[in-house]
Amino acid sequence: MIDIQSLQKRWADGPLEPWAKLLTEQVAAGLSVLRHGDIPRWQAALESLPEIHVDNASLDAASVTVSAQDSMSETTREKLESALRGLCPWRKGPYDLFGLAIDTEWHSDWKWDRLTPHIAPLDNRRVLDVGCGNGYHCWRMRGAGANEVIGIDPSPLFVIQFAALQRYLQDPAVAVLPMGIEKLPPKLHAFDTAFSMGVLYHRRSPMEHLMTLRDSLRSGGELVLETLVIEGDERQCLVPQGRYARMGNVWFIPSSAMLVLWLAKLGWKNPRVVDESVTTTDEQRSTDWMSYQSLANFLDPNDPTLTLEGYPAPRRAVVIAEAP
Ligand code: SAH
Repeated sequence: MIDIQSLQKRWADGPLEPWAKLLTEQVAAGLSVLRHGDIPRWQAALESLPEIHVDNASLDAASVTVSAQDSMSETTREKLESALRGLCPWRKGPYDLFGLAIDTEWHSDWKWDRLTPHIAPLDNRRVLDVGCGNGYHCWRMRGAGANEVIGIDPSPLFVIQFAALQRYLQDPAVAVLPMGIEKLPPKLHAFDTAFSMGVLYHRRSPMEHLMTLRDSLRSGGELVLETLVIEGDERQCLVPQGRYARMGNVWFIPSSAMLVLWLAKLGWKNPRVVDESVTTTDEQRSTDWMSYQSLANFLDPNDPTLTLEGYPAPRRAVVIAEAP
């Protein structure tokens, strides 16, 4: 499912060599059935994807798209849809596979559009995407010219969703590996750009997360950090008691000013907020491909500026900085 050998070959004698040595074991552990009882079912869905000849791929429009010149037979179309539905819920996207639109919970393209005007051009860069989900943004990074994109995510389902896309896109320069940031070998100083989007508030130790990202980058490499924030000055940070918008694993939601302070204190150069926006129920919503509850269900029905728990509703900032 993951072509470890070609990664190991590519990484030999370069700054990623220390990681290459760990890959076989890390991938086996990340996709072990011990991690999730549904892994065999997802793998069977992946294997049931039909053979389809790809004529075109597009990684630089809202929908990550693969298409064929010839139209599919009805049987092939049904096989494709049933395999992909077997990998529900689809959270990040959208995707379009041979005319079959996967309408995901998130309009991940909107996040991409908010940040791209502000980042260093990705041409020829080696990029890390921490907490990449099913890899939607990894494809967009490749479409924006990155030389190599490595995504990591501990969720086996999302890694298998990525493999489903890779089955048709067949791009060896993009990989998604089943592991969390804590498995990244220390001080690689290998990447030109590192993205961490939607992950920091899930970390119990946000400073450690920011240090690990710093040490993954070469000197001068760029961090693109996107996370939940509250309104307020550099002294304000929300530590939700219990759940936040129904999520059980939310630890720190600083103001964007405090986030900048954290980065500066850790030695990051020129940390700056380039975007701050309230997440809308158009950007994150239940769909035919993600039928569980979504943002609208997690807000106070009488006051959508608050979560069900009474905290400020989700607002997100994008912060950029360079590694020292
Ligand atoms: N970056 C994507 C997805 C964000 S959702 C986007 O912005 O759209 C947050 C992701 O972080 C989930 O896919 C989750 O599996 C992943 N995650 C959770 N803990 C993590 C960890 N310790 N290291 C890396 N990723 C983690």
